[in-house]
Amino acid sequence: MTALSKTQELDRKYLWHPYSAMGADTPIYPVKSAQGVLIKLQDGRELIDGMSSWWSAIHGYNHPAMNQALTNQLKTMSHVMFGGLTHQPAIDLAIQLVNLTPTCLKTVFFVDSGSVAVEVALKMAIQYWHAKKQPDKQKILTIRHGYHGDTFGAMSVSDPENGMHHLFSNVVTAQFFADAPTCKFDQPCSESDISPLEIQLKTHHHHIAAIILEPIVQGAGGMNIYSPEYLKRVRELCDQYEVLLILDEIATGFGRTGKLFACEHAGIEPDIMCLGKALTGGYMTLAATLTTNDVAQTISNGDPGLFMHGPTFMANPLACSAALASIKLLLGSPWQSRVLEIEKTLKSDLMPCTVYEQVKDVRVIGAIGVVELHRQVDINKIQPLFVEKGVWIRPFNNLIYIMPPYIINTDDLEKLTHTIVKIVASIEVTK
Ligand code: PMP
Repeated sequence: MTALSKTQELDRKYLWHPYSAMGADTPIYPVKSAQGVLIKLQDGRELIDGMSSWWSAIHGYNHPAMNQALTNQLKTMSHVMFGGLTHQPAIDLAIQLVNLTPTCLKTVFFVDSGSVAVEVALKMAIQYWHAKKQPDKQKILTIRHGYHGDTFGAMSVSDPENGMHHLFSNVVTAQFFADAPTCKFDQPCSESDISPLEIQLKTHHHHIAAIILEPIVQGAGGMNIYSPEYLKRVRELCDQYEVLLILDEIATGFGRTGKLFACEHAGIEPDIMCLGKALTGGYMTLAATLTTNDVAQTISNGDPGLFMHGPTFMANPLACSAALASIKLLLGSPWQSRVLEIEKTLKSDLMPCTVYEQVKDVRVIGAIGVVELHRQVDINKIQPLFVEKGVWIRPFNNLIYIMPPYIINTDDLEKLTHTIVKIVASIEVTK
């Protein structure tokens, strides 16, 4: 094993990383800078980024237009409290988001992270029914294999098996779960796909405030891609049983699946939508919960006459400016054709992986490519292999997946896909 650098030693001594143990023997790579699609390590190596820093850096790193927007904003103010004060970046961004998202969404609540956007969505749904004098509707229904974040409310609606429920079983709210659909993106939704959800609704709708789903792609809960027809059926059922529909577009939003928002594949509109990740092009932490006039007015006119949430850094002007710049860049770019090109390459390069015995499935939609293995990978062994080959790909569980920045060129993308194929081919088949 190579000796740790000073940075690595200090990191190991003082810092927690996501889902990590202190002092663990896991490889951590100090980054010196990042530019375009390249992550430049302190030791001089350069890695092609396959992760967009967890779905967020859609324009790559160190983009001059993004930098300029932040420099400009810094000159006027970096932050003011949002209680009793407002500012142009928040107003401009709210208008932009209302214009871009499905027509029925009319109001915006800004928060700092995706998990908190989900908390806000859940609270909105519960307060809505409280205001409508149906206080028994406090539970949330969702499907298995979902992931909505790490805070308590978000955990309660994430997959009950791999979603940490057992660790926190006395404090995580018990919610209703239905089996996830098995219909693939291009398949029709059969009765067996929808009936688990329908049964839960039929039985418990008096207690259900909302259904929450990641539309089309279930991300960190297993990278499953399902049929738009399923979403259509869910929307109908929500209307039939008087349950709100929350769509968590935190991972899928801003073009990742080939549509600006994944719900557009199904042509449906949610009552509440959560956005995050790519909202600021990966520059700053910011998320948003959008809702309809009906939900907003009902909450505001009901008891206690206000919505019970208000973070310190709500609508941070720097973050709002980053988001405005990112959206401008996105809309001014040929993002749809780029995502389509990425999809073509991902399909042609990754689909051949299905010939390997160790591979269970290969799935591609938009700028997301997933190779699912039969067995969990050993991250400590596989991570250095990717780094040695000059790419930044971070598998989890049994999934090797990429969602590169949209600006990636074909050569760099092929380096990512060819490396995946090589490494997948070299994984031992253990049964
Ligand atoms: N929802 C979804 C669909 C996500 O993918 C994530 C993050 N992976 C979250 C919510 C939570 O977002 P954050 O990590 O910003 O709290």
